[in-house]
Amino acid sequence: MQTEVLIVGAGPAGIAAAKAASRNAQVTLLDDNPRPGGQIWRNRKDLDLPPGIHWLPSTGITGVMGEKTLLVEGHVLHFEKLILATGARELFLPFPGWTLPGVVGAGGLQAMIKSGLDVHGKQVVIAGSGPLLLAVAELAHQKGAQVLHILEQAPRSQLLPFLQALSAGKLLQAARMGPALLSRYVPDAYVLHASGAHKLETVTCQIQGKTLQISCDLLAVGDGLVPNLELALQLGCKVDQGFIQVDDTCKTSVRDVYAAGEVTGIGGLDKALLEGEIAGLAATGQPIPKLVPRLQKTQSFVRKLRQSFALRKEVLERARPDTVICRCEDVQLSQLEGHSGWRSAKLHTRLGMGGCQGRTCGPICQTLLGFDAPQSRPPVFATPLKNLLLEEQP
Ligand SMILES: Cc1cc2nc3c(=O)[nH]c(=O)nc-3n(C[C@H](O)[C@H](O)[C@H](O)COP(=O)(O)OP(=O)(O)OC[C@H]3O[C@@H](n4cnc5c(N)ncnc54)[C@H](O)[C@@H]3O)c2cc1C
Repeated sequence: MQTEVLIVGAGPAGIAAAKAASRNAQVTLLDDNPRPGGQIWRNRKDLDLPPGIHWLPSTGITGVMGEKTLLVEGHVLHFEKLILATGARELFLPFPGWTLPGVVGAGGLQAMIKSGLDVHGKQVVIAGSGPLLLAVAELAHQKGAQVLHILEQAPRSQLLPFLQALSAGKLLQAARMGPALLSRYVPDAYVLHASGAHKLETVTCQIQGKTLQISCDLLAVGDGLVPNLELALQLGCKVDQGFIQVDDTCKTSVRDVYAAGEVTGIGGLDKALLEGEIAGLAATGQPIPKLVPRLQKTQSFVRKLRQSFALRKEVLERARPDTVICRCEDVQLSQLEGHSGWRSAKLHTRLGMGGCQGRTCGPICQTLLGFDAPQSRPPVFATPLKNLLLEEQP
């Protein structure tokens, strides 16, 4: 298959890129989910893709095959321009009890509720760091859960730069959550450990200097977001401080490859939409100058977000020697001691060798142990063998 512009990821950035690019070129948009929308618009029914684009749902990229050629689940896809809008996933740092049933990722809980999980009447504690916690709390509350606490690890003073950078619209959105829910938002608070005989029963927390035990049904934790860089790394795109490096036109260091959204810096919806539009216009030779000043504003927001929600030392030091770090292969923290990096630890333990192929424990090891990032190689995601066997082209 041949396309002029290939966009990987149908979240806000990918959709904005598709809208802009399709005015001047033939566009193929694909996503590994069955519906477009990405994280924030997951399962939204009223989402229209631009007319005339070629939409490939439930389609993951298996790997890079060569110059402007990708392997897409058993098919070869040639492109002239590529836009990476692969978004981010959540960081979920281990603490004693984090593998108990009932302890879930905050974004994971949001995705499960959006896909139909019934949380009516459930007592939920939401903890970690970043604005996602409030979005998850709001959704759980709307669906009838009893949100007991929203624990933000950052101290109140650290949150100021973020609050000052919020637009009037975002402040209004927060105010609409209502005083009852907002009063449960506590800064300077984090989970110490979770306990229960066979499933979660109690969460022990440190709340503004005091230790407290809370009984609940669900604990949803999100310690920030990490970009999905696998494809960019395989393509050889330059990465700076953990994100794809782009110029003012969203161009990466690799010719004819652009990137937009969370993969270039965690900045939320507005940044994703703006960068998507810029990437779509730039990739198809359309003018962008009016958009560039807005881009600089979003970059300042990215910096403030990072500064405000920087993780505190205590959160990075909760795991004990017997705490599982790699959930797929049950590798504990004590087994990783003495290893200088990812490769050495992987060679001596089964770290990163399970189903997620290091997508969860990789960022954990980078954050807790200062390991280097796991190397990305094909297949990008675990895939059936048949997807690696190419059918002969007539
Ligand atoms: C779990 C989670 C929940 C979030 N919830 C909210 C929220 O409620 N409110 C909010 O303001 N922000 C939320 N965010 C932040 C959110 O990421 C941004 O606001 C916005 O959605 C970013 O848009 P994006 O297009 O850059 O990425 P995303 O929305 O993440 O879209 C990227 C898409 O690319 C797909 N993809 C990735 N790699 C591949 C591949 N190799 N092949 C095919 N498809 C691929 C992904 O499945 C995804 O659908 C959430 C983030 C996460 C991780």
